[in-house]
Amino acid sequence: MLNGSELGTFRKQLLGWFRQFRRDLPWRRTTDPYRIWLSEIMLQQTRVAAAIPYYERFLERFPDVRALAAAPQEDILRAWSGLGYYSRARNLQKAAQQIVAKHGGQFPNRREDALALPGIGNYTAAAILSIVFGEKLAVLDGNVARVIARLGAIRGDLRESTRWQKLQKTADCLLDPESPGDWNQAMMELGATLCTPKSPQCLLCPVAQFCQARKLGIAESLPEKRKKRATVEVTLAAAVFADEKGQTLLLPPPRNTKERASADHVPTLVSKMWHFPTLSVAAEPSANLLAFLRKLMPDVRRHKWQLVPVAKARHAVTYRAITLLPFLIRVRKLPCFSGARTVPLSDISGLPVSNLTRKVARAALAAASVQAKS
Ligand code: SF4
Repeated sequence: MLNGSELGTFRKQLLGWFRQFRRDLPWRRTTDPYRIWLSEIMLQQTRVAAAIPYYERFLERFPDVRALAAAPQEDILRAWSGLGYYSRARNLQKAAQQIVAKHGGQFPNRREDALALPGIGNYTAAAILSIVFGEKLAVLDGNVARVIARLGAIRGDLRESTRWQKLQKTADCLLDPESPGDWNQAMMELGATLCTPKSPQCLLCPVAQFCQARKLGIAESLPEKRKKRATVEVTLAAAVFADEKGQTLLLPPPRNTKERASADHVPTLVSKMWHFPTLSVAAEPSANLLAFLRKLMPDVRRHKWQLVPVAKARHAVTYRAITLLPFLIRVRKLPCFSGARTVPLSDISGLPVSNLTRKVARAALAAASVQAKS
């Protein structure tokens, strides 16, 4: 891609720019592997601005790897609640437990050992080990791949396996062996701040002179769009009980049996967390939901519950576009259901819940307060 002297200039200019203009982020003020690892996991699916308050609260609650390993999983999910992709939090704890059990509480400094930890793949291992231990491992994620694709005017689907391997080789060649941690962060920073997916700011780019896509005037059209998986529409009906004290009822995290996962989308869509009684429906949502409640709670036959539809909400999880149909059910006394818990409808955050469940709660709460005023 670049000859020897060009490579030297390229590295010097990019590192110089990074050291002068890098954003002051909380995880850049530390070399503690636990903190850097946590930031890398949080940033996998979350934007920097959204991640910062979670990162800070999480560290207050779980200040080190031992605290995380020993904590009840429910506390960890509660601290993660709202960030989404909860397998990240579950894996984080499993990895913390392995670090305590096998590595004396120290994050391993060998790539193979890091890769053996749950939730740690090539990108995360390279990021942590280069930043913390100065290992010469180049990161490659969507941001860095976009930068490299533009620098080399590489067309086609970047995630295609052979192309991705070539991008990794290019990333390895570009890596500055003297400062691999700063280098990786510089590449990520360039992708996040200037070489952005839309409207790259080439005039401010410290390595613009080496960029083939810019020369060809095709920077904005790279990387080429991937074929997207077709969107699947899902409709979920959710029962929101509300008693006279404003308490509601949540069911425990669904067990992830294969049969249940294939029968409907509910366990996945509630992120295996606490949730309202919820059913995937194709037609007649209230009748089907009532039948579901009867099956779930045989005592329901004795009650004449009225399922009042409230405002619909929309939600998206990967390729699924979800229509949420919450139904408010006013009761004098909440029904008993084994394993269920009672929480205030106005604040369900006492239990770990997904964003989908929060949306259902918000819609039901808005309807309940309108009813109360009228
Ligand atoms: S010149 Fe533009 S397209 Fe090329 S690397 Fe810099 S910001 Fe990205």
